[in-house]
Amino acid sequence: MSPSRSEPVAVEVFGQPAPDPQLDAVCRTAAALFGVRYAFVSQLDGACQWFLGREGLILPGTQREIAFCAHTIRGAAHVPLVVLDTRRDRRFAANPLVTGAPFLRFYAGVSIALGDGTHAGTVCIADTVPRTGFSAAEGRRLSDLALFVEATLRGRAAQSEARQAHHRAEASDTLLRTTLESMDQGLLMTDAADRIRVYNRRVATLMGVPEALLYDGAPFAMVRAHQAASGEFAHLPDPLRAWLEHGAPEARIYDYERVRPDGTVLQVRTLPLPRGGLVRTFTDVTARRTAESALRASEGRYRLLAENSNDVIVLGDIAMRCLYVSPAVRTVLGYEPEDLVGTTAAAFCHPDDAAALTEHWSQLTAGREGRFVACLRHRHKAGHYVWIEASVRVLPDAQAEDGITFVATLRDVSARREAEERVRHMALHDALTGLPNRTLFRDRLDQAIAHARRVRTGFAVLACDLDRFKAVNDSLGHPAGDALLRIVAARMRAVLRPYDTIARLGGDEFAVVLTYLDEAREASCLAEQLIAAVSEPIDLDGQSVEVGVSIGLTVAADLDCDPDELFQRADIALYEAKAAGRNTHREFEPDAGARIATRGLLALDMKEAIRRDAFRLAYQPVVDAATGAVVGFEALMRWRHPVQGEIAPGAFIPLAEETGLIVPMGSWALQEACREAAAWPAPIRVAVNVSAVQLRRPGLEAAVLSALAASGLPANRLKLEVTESVLMQDAEAVLACLHRLRGCGVKIALDDFGTGYSSLSYLRRFPFDQIKIDRSFIRDIADPDAAAIVRAVVGIGERLGMGIVAEGVETPEQLDLVRQEGCTQVQGFLFSRPLPPGEAAAYIAARADRAGASSGQRVAAAQG
Ligand code: C2E
Ligand code: CA
Ligand code: CA
Repeated sequence: MSPSRSEPVAVEVFGQPAPDPQLDAVCRTAAALFGVRYAFVSQLDGACQWFLGREGLILPGTQREIAFCAHTIRGAAHVPLVVLDTRRDRRFAANPLVTGAPFLRFYAGVSIALGDGTHAGTVCIADTVPRTGFSAAEGRRLSDLALFVEATLRGRAAQSEARQAHHRAEASDTLLRTTLESMDQGLLMTDAADRIRVYNRRVATLMGVPEALLYDGAPFAMVRAHQAASGEFAHLPDPLRAWLEHGAPEARIYDYERVRPDGTVLQVRTLPLPRGGLVRTFTDVTARRTAESALRASEGRYRLLAENSNDVIVLGDIAMRCLYVSPAVRTVLGYEPEDLVGTTAAAFCHPDDAAALTEHWSQLTAGREGRFVACLRHRHKAGHYVWIEASVRVLPDAQAEDGITFVATLRDVSARREAEERVRHMALHDALTGLPNRTLFRDRLDQAIAHARRVRTGFAVLACDLDRFKAVNDSLGHPAGDALLRIVAARMRAVLRPYDTIARLGGDEFAVVLTYLDEAREASCLAEQLIAAVSEPIDLDGQSVEVGVSIGLTVAADLDCDPDELFQRADIALYEAKAAGRNTHREFEPDAGARIATRGLLALDMKEAIRRDAFRLAYQPVVDAATGAVVGFEALMRWRHPVQGEIAPGAFIPLAEETGLIVPMGSWALQEACREAAAWPAPIRVAVNVSAVQLRRPGLEAAVLSALAASGLPANRLKLEVTESVLMQDAEAVLACLHRLRGCGVKIALDDFGTGYSSLSYLRRFPFDQIKIDRSFIRDIADPDAAAIVRAVVGIGERLGMGIVAEGVETPEQLDLVRQEGCTQVQGFLFSRPLPPGEAAAYIAARADRAGASSGQRVAAAQG
């Protein structure tokens, strides 16, 4: 047995048992009793024999191999092993304890049970001299002694056991106390007699009693009485108060929560013990309850928010199913919240938005995005669709609760979408006519190109520009101009097919894309129909006006064309059309581009021409209808473009009017014409065309006076030609200006009479010196209707004292007829084309000679 397992050896020092005076005394007594030198109490372990008590021996122990006791313990319990002479016993004769110190010759030993009940010890006597006998009485005595030692050791073991148990109990008690005291809960155990047995100090605080009241054995009733007296239970509801104050058995409330007078919330759990008595635990749950009520309050607030928000709030699961839908859904989508719980948005989504929704959702659930915001159309209960802006967020796992994985807010954005739609429409349409604007036109043109490439059909681009629109706008005012544009737009729209696009590019410019053309001729056909539709008289508040439209068109032949280039081609063709006399159409010819640049470029070139003084005037004679004598010349603007060559006034004057360049050009023409005319013999006059634009702007009077002053030409030799549109302007200022000029002696002629909105009543508005009948009447003068008109104008002119000039007389027949109708002066190719400046003087001289030579033959002279 191991030394450590037996109590006496438990206090060994350096592996040896400590001296044991008690056992030593037993040994001393035994030695004396048996008259031997040695007596000892031994204990054996695996390797050694230790002497727990000894007399006569110096050794504290021996090796087990040589121990006599090892033999002893193998024998029967309490039966002594007696060796009278060791030398004569083969087992021991050679034993070193026999052959050497302590020279044992006699041995008698009895095995004993140690404290743990094992027979691993002995009580022995021994001597250095052999014995002859060892009586039975001696044997019994030794056995008795052994019993005594055994009892002593067992007693000691029991004592040590008790001590250890006590230590253990103490230790566990300390542990319990430490545990109890370190608990945040209060704990109190009472026994069957309602006395306190276990408690911790925390319980005093939580129950509101002094610690002094708590001790082992204290009556719990004292605690209760103290609590009742201090008002601890005063405000509690009745059954609980009765139970707490008196332990009223009919109440018997084991688990409860109560609020202490100081506001602390105490949770009490009571556990009855099997043998009577109770264990109570007290927990301060104030913080928990406060947090809970804060949570409840905040939940309530969120609910309020959700239920009162104009946005629909939706909580849903991973399968997009709605688990909660806020009441706003009634207003937004017409459904009851319950109608939608369990459904998915996909089921209500507009078919065109379904793909987008699926895409957003899969991005979201794949974790690539935490949220998405999308505008989708959601079906309203009434069947129509509502534009909804959905902001959907997937919750991080930590926030996900009750299967809720997403939060969505749905906002009705129909109004916003409509507004956006309106803005978009406004951005792409012309406000006045509702037609697509330049941006949308460009887009449609791109589409037409792409489409034509796919289906291999032709298409055409038309550039349209109204003729004489400016005159209407200037004379009848902007509201009338706007009305006219609307009517024209509607008429053009009506001519086109549904898949064509007509756009208003600005001012009086329109553009058209004709699609699905089987042959190029169709484009010309439609252009003619457009012209016919626009040319019909237009009624503006009772006033009938006529405008025309010039159209340039290009048919896209090669499908690799660029939209800009196409449009430029149509624009070039438009110039051709304008130059060709308006109210007509022209198709783009590849070399036209070289002749006519686009408007913008032309305007730039015109500016440059003014700067470089590149304009010239040509002079067309006006002759007396009766005598054929030259009475004057009309100055006509000429422009030789450095690249395009001679450009007709019909092509650049309208542009000059639009850009305002006509003002400096007109001033220049006045200066130049007066300077030239000053060299002609009196009273030959010069006529200068004045645009309505010049009259509308200040400075015409000054320009006229300065031209007269600079040239020295008398005012009465200058004639200004203005068109009817000037008279239609409301501006009194214009008439006043004309009056003042006339007052200076300058003659004023009404040009192009009969073209515009000719109303004979205009003639009464201003005392013109002359009326020039437009050459279209002269061209048709053989026609009785045209002749009747000319006759009527001549009649009025005569009555009002105005001379009548016939323009564009090309044939002797026309000359005859205009004479018959009473025209006083004539002008036309029959006499002369407009002449370069130097030739005018020569023409005068030549005419004077001829007139003088054959004054009798007027017709012949006129034809010369
Ligand atoms: P307009 O004032 O009616 O000028 C007469 C036009 O008739 C001129 O054309 C003249 O060449 C043309 N003409 C004359 N006799 C005949 C004829 O027998 N047959 C034909 N077919 N035509 C004839 P042009 O020079 O091309 O001028 C066109 C228009 O340009 C002018 O018409 C006038 O309105 C405008 N214009 C020309 N020069 C000026 C100018 O200096 N200032 C302004 N404001 N306008 C001008
Ligand atoms: Ca003229
Ligand atoms: Ca004219």
